[in-house]
Amino acid sequence: PQKIANAPAGLLEVRGEVYLDKKDLAALNERQQLKGDNIFANTRNAAAGSLRQKDPLITAQRPLKFFAHSFGTGDIAADSFSGFIDLCKSWGFSVCPVRTKTTLISDVIRFYNQFDSSRHQLPFDVDGLVVKVNRFEDQRVLGVTAKSPRWAIAFKYPAPQATTTVKNIIFSVGRSGVITPVAELEPVPCAGVIISNTTLHNFDEIKRLGVRVGDRVIIERAGEVIPKMVKVVEQLGTQEVLPPAKCPSCGEPVYKEPDEVGYYCVNPSCPAQLRARLLHFASRGAMDIEGLGDVVMDKLLESQYVTDFADIYGLTFLHLLNLENFKDKKAQNLLDSIEASKQKPLSRLLFALGIAFVGAKTAEILADRFRTLDALKNASLAELQSVPDVGETVSQSIYDFFHSQSALDQIEKLRAAGLNFTQPKKELSGNILEGKTLVFTGELKTMTRTEAERLAKEYGGKASGSVSKKTAYVVAGEAAGTKLKKAQELGVPVLTEEEFLKLLGRI
Ligand SMILES: [Zn+2]
Repeated sequence: PQKIANAPAGLLEVRGEVYLDKKDLAALNERQQLKGDNIFANTRNAAAGSLRQKDPLITAQRPLKFFAHSFGTGDIAADSFSGFIDLCKSWGFSVCPVRTKTTLISDVIRFYNQFDSSRHQLPFDVDGLVVKVNRFEDQRVLGVTAKSPRWAIAFKYPAPQATTTVKNIIFSVGRSGVITPVAELEPVPCAGVIISNTTLHNFDEIKRLGVRVGDRVIIERAGEVIPKMVKVVEQLGTQEVLPPAKCPSCGEPVYKEPDEVGYYCVNPSCPAQLRARLLHFASRGAMDIEGLGDVVMDKLLESQYVTDFADIYGLTFLHLLNLENFKDKKAQNLLDSIEASKQKPLSRLLFALGIAFVGAKTAEILADRFRTLDALKNASLAELQSVPDVGETVSQSIYDFFHSQSALDQIEKLRAAGLNFTQPKKELSGNILEGKTLVFTGELKTMTRTEAERLAKEYGGKASGSVSKKTAYVVAGEAAGTKLKKAQELGVPVLTEEEFLKLLGRI
């Protein structure tokens, strides 16, 4: 709550846990993916990562929730934990809906066992229970050790596991040529989904697990989206799994850097790499060509209608109608999304090209800096290195890419196909402060008070001298005094000078 109704006088300290609902994690990950940012493996990582943000405005955008679960200090009208939780509820805190009170340890054990099957239906992830002695007086008598209280203990549930058989271990070739071993499994249900394969990451991992085709293995999904192999329980396979000598796709010899774990296919015209690069090009964070997933891509490759990025833009209605399962509407939809992708900003195209070390973020930085593909193409190594956040390895990789004949040929073909090679200017936030009243207090570092007030006006806002409930933001500089205090009392959001400038999109 921003304000606590009927709060006790003086300092009140309520402790608890910040968490994310499962469906909010899914939505957050979708947004992260669109922006080309990292995907969170589970709700715990997402909550912790959101709190660790240096920029509180980012934290504020995350769908975080809070359960009050422990009492710190304060003069409260309760003599037990359950009484305290009831008070928290009445003060407006949310508390975990799952709790029970008992005097029998057998009830605790029964509750633990029964809850294991129903906990997955809750909107949030639960990995265990905490059992607490209820009366504060009893808690005081039991006391605490150096590490933890003697009156509370956590009972965790083991991570969901399943036992299955390894049917095969295949080698998948990524767009950079890296060869990843993947275990194909006898399909097995685990934590609500059917698992039929799992990545083994690399050949060191295979050695560590000692896994062979035919083995019985345990797999686990510990809140992770991707299952992992835990160990071999029964070695039934006879053949040790060794790195392939030849690329499973093109048959060229496999290459390994002496001090790296990865094995690579370095053949530039390897079909598996081409397929992975094309799929990346069309993917959501890149050119975002809807309807061009792996099934359609395989047909296009098989028919040889597509052999490089530019060929996608040469596809015609007749080409598509020749493919299996393609009717008028589906063909037209795909052509429409291919056409629409031509207008994507330069940052998307740069990411789509799959230059080594250039992820979505770096692509955006480069596009904002150079504005056109030709400016970037002609940039010297020194110019590339002078871009903030672009290190030596990255700039060398970009430089090499734009000095390889095959890349230059590809770029000219894409230009001829009519792709946008420019980056639009970042839109100004415009009237982001429309109708909002701001109060500046304390000493600002980068501008005077008058300049700050003028800036607020420029973005549609209005500056005021006093804080009230209607104040949208208080911007607090060094040595802010009573106005800051008033803002905190009224629950008015307080921004630092830096956050204020960020809000306006000026830094
Ligand atoms: Zn290959």
